[in-house]
Amino acid sequence: MGRRSPTPARGPKQENLIMHIPTLELHEAASFEDATALLAQFSPDVRLLAGGTDVLVDLKTGGSGVGHLVTFSRIETISGISEEADGLRIGALTTITEIDDSPLISGPYEMLRDAASQMATLQIRNTATIGGNIAGANPCADLPPVLMVLNATAVVISADGQRDVPLQELITGPRETLLAQNELLAAVLVPRPPARFGAAYARFGLRNGNAIAVASVAASLTLKDDGTVHNAHIALGAVAPVPTLVAAADLWLEGRDLNGDALDEAARAAMGAAEPISDLRASADYRRELVGVLTKRALTAAEQRAKG
Ligand SMILES: Cc1cc2nc3c(=O)[nH]c(=O)nc-3n(C[C@H](O)[C@H](O)[C@H](O)COP(=O)(O)OP(=O)(O)OC[C@H]3O[C@@H](n4cnc5c(N)ncnc54)[C@H](O)[C@@H]3O)c2cc1C
Repeated sequence: MGRRSPTPARGPKQENLIMHIPTLELHEAASFEDATALLAQFSPDVRLLAGGTDVLVDLKTGGSGVGHLVTFSRIETISGISEEADGLRIGALTTITEIDDSPLISGPYEMLRDAASQMATLQIRNTATIGGNIAGANPCADLPPVLMVLNATAVVISADGQRDVPLQELITGPRETLLAQNELLAAVLVPRPPARFGAAYARFGLRNGNAIAVASVAASLTLKDDGTVHNAHIALGAVAPVPTLVAAADLWLEGRDLNGDALDEAARAAMGAAEPISDLRASADYRRELVGVLTKRALTAAEQRAKG
């Protein structure tokens, strides 16, 4: 038998690189009542576990240690996409791949696929959920800006019942939402857009695959019969602490043709609304420039879709 080489002593630097999940208790909720009761019982030492692509990384790196995790995949209606009388209902545990693959994500909802198809890698998309993407409130998350310009609403459940919160109000800071400790996101409702509606998402990452957005822009608009803009919404991702709606986009685009001047003005307004930071992915100036370019791309693609 050969001799094993002695285990090298670990310095502090190597200790930091070791990733392991600390001891914790896993609870399985079979109903909304179970889930909210477990959240209330163990608050604040508890987190919901959806796909785990964020929460498990956090736990492994010591970002937010908790003693309890609650899974909730056994709750009926928590996953899947359905067409309702007034729009789409997307269950919180619906995966990014399900969004990408669903035949219901078409026509006015196509923008959801623009975002889903560009996120992360296939392995992550197969696991990551729409609920985790929203509730994780990462400033560079792809779906919140998209859902904001689609006027989506979050269905939030607690022991006290249900409340509906506009997506535009749900995210309050980096990794912060209006959700209380005993609440969970059950679904997202995307209202059916009117006729002559189009929406598109433009994003820039440092690679085509598995790169979070350096900057992103979601745009939606409705055209009048004469082809000019009736109303418009623009939301920015990854360039501010929260996904940001460009204020009054509908006011300055209303009644206009989306020609070069209108697009230039829209781009300038969006750049003015951005509050980017410099980090290892890009400088603040570069991000602001990207916002201008992406705003034009998203509005142009949205207009093409609105024209059918
Ligand atoms: C390699 C890699 C690449 C990535 N690339 C991208 C990318 O390109 N774009 C992007 O947007 N994201 C990306 N992410 C981040 C992550 O995958 C997504 O945000 C994903 O959608 C999170 O969903 P999840 O189900 O895994 O959430 P989890 O990790 O399970 O949860 C995330 C947070 O949300 C809370 N939560 C989850 N579900 C609910 C709910 N229903 N109600 C209330 N709170 C809830 C959890 O408690 C936790 O705090 C990437 C992650 C990795 C590891």
